[in-house]
Amino acid sequence: MALITKAPRGTQDFVPAESAKMRYIEGVLMKIAEKYGFGEIRTPSFEHTELFVRSVGDTTDVVQKEMYTFEDKKGRSITLKPEGTAGAVRAAMEHGLLAEALPLKLSYITPCFRYEKAQAGRYREFHQFGVELLGAQSSAADAEVIGLVNQCLTTLGVESIRLFINSIGCPNCRPGYQKALREYYQAHYDDLCPTCKDRLERNPLRLLDCKEEKCHALAEHAPVILDYLCEECQQHFDTLKARLDSMGIPYEVDPYIVRGLDYYTKTVFEFKTETIGAQGTVCGGGRYDGLVEMLGGQKQPAVGFGMGLERLALVMEACGALLPEQPRCDICLVPLGEKASVYCSALIQRLREEGFAAESDLMGRSLKAQLKYANKIAARYTMVIGDAELEAGSARLKDMDSGAEAEVAFARLAAELTSREADRLCQGIAQTGPDVAGLLKE
Ligand code: ATP
Ligand code: MG
Repeated sequence: MALITKAPRGTQDFVPAESAKMRYIEGVLMKIAEKYGFGEIRTPSFEHTELFVRSVGDTTDVVQKEMYTFEDKKGRSITLKPEGTAGAVRAAMEHGLLAEALPLKLSYITPCFRYEKAQAGRYREFHQFGVELLGAQSSAADAEVIGLVNQCLTTLGVESIRLFINSIGCPNCRPGYQKALREYYQAHYDDLCPTCKDRLERNPLRLLDCKEEKCHALAEHAPVILDYLCEECQQHFDTLKARLDSMGIPYEVDPYIVRGLDYYTKTVFEFKTETIGAQGTVCGGGRYDGLVEMLGGQKQPAVGFGMGLERLALVMEACGALLPEQPRCDICLVPLGEKASVYCSALIQRLREEGFAAESDLMGRSLKAQLKYANKIAARYTMVIGDAELEAGSARLKDMDSGAEAEVAFARLAAELTSREADRLCQGIAQTGPDVAGLLKE
């Protein structure tokens, strides 16, 4: 029979060494979000298709080209979530969270699905870390979520990544800009891709985000939204910049960022890097004051972002950001003979219940092979246990780093390991980076 050994195109497996890295990254991100007051929300991997059509927008690439949509057995149209915001906001509304004290601060890590051309940094299943801050109109909220991303990147040791910001206005000022855009693109109508020809009437802002080469080139000379902002949007943008300045967060204004989702208003931002090839946008976000209303609720200002974890891991690798070492096995028990092996089953169970990472032989290996295995799994200590040791009720505990040995009674083994571990921790904490150590403590 033919082997089935290939995952679907655009998907990835995370083998233990890789998933350990992801777990570390996720732990740091969620911990920081928690310190900023965000509580985790978990929503389903699929939603009614209508949710995304209404929120992300029916003229966006995501809705027009990239969604995994299918009918379930009852003929309902279902879509695997292509992004995190719509589901989080839907859930907040469904559970009445917006009726409680505001602001509402939600965070999540979620798989996302988009039918895209798979390549480095672009997958059909990927993972987003995101936060949504609902209920706050002030640019202080925008500054807070940008500050959060900034702190995440710094804590993870990410370098050479730049923040770009823009304002795309609101329903008051955007129509004037859309008119100017339409006029500009109308003059170049024949050069537009078929999708953009269709978008021109319905949503000309989308043309600025088109990835087709010709449309992309045209976008560079298009009118700029910042020239059309109303007073309120202008002031919001100015105060955001003042806050970022005062926070010491460097940014550049890029008037051509529009983001690929329709729900954005006012602030939009991207964190981009040139270190991981063409897919350099690691994080994208902005304000979406109209979304709750678009979903049938009462108007509610909001701001958030989505950060691609796979791209984040790629930048970390590219800039040599340090990941924590794999935790070592504390002790490897090396039984000689059947009787010792049976005793080791009990001893190892006790050690594990005490919280130690303990291993022992499961393969019936020789003494030499067992010691080789202990080296391979980087055991901190080994203890060889044969009939004589069983008789004595003690054995030699060998420190695999220093080679030092000491006779330790089985009954005292856990206590001995605990006190050695405490010594090691005291010495070790001084060597760990202060940020990460501080964060992961508790
Ligand atoms: P791009 O311009 O690269 O297509 P986007 O504008 O579609 O990105 P968003 O919808 O804002 O991206 O999603 C937020 C983040 O999710 C992106 O900045 C990126 O890090 C990540 N992301 C988006 N699509 C993918 C994908 N197909 N594979 C991996 N990560 C992705
Ligand atoms: Mg995209």
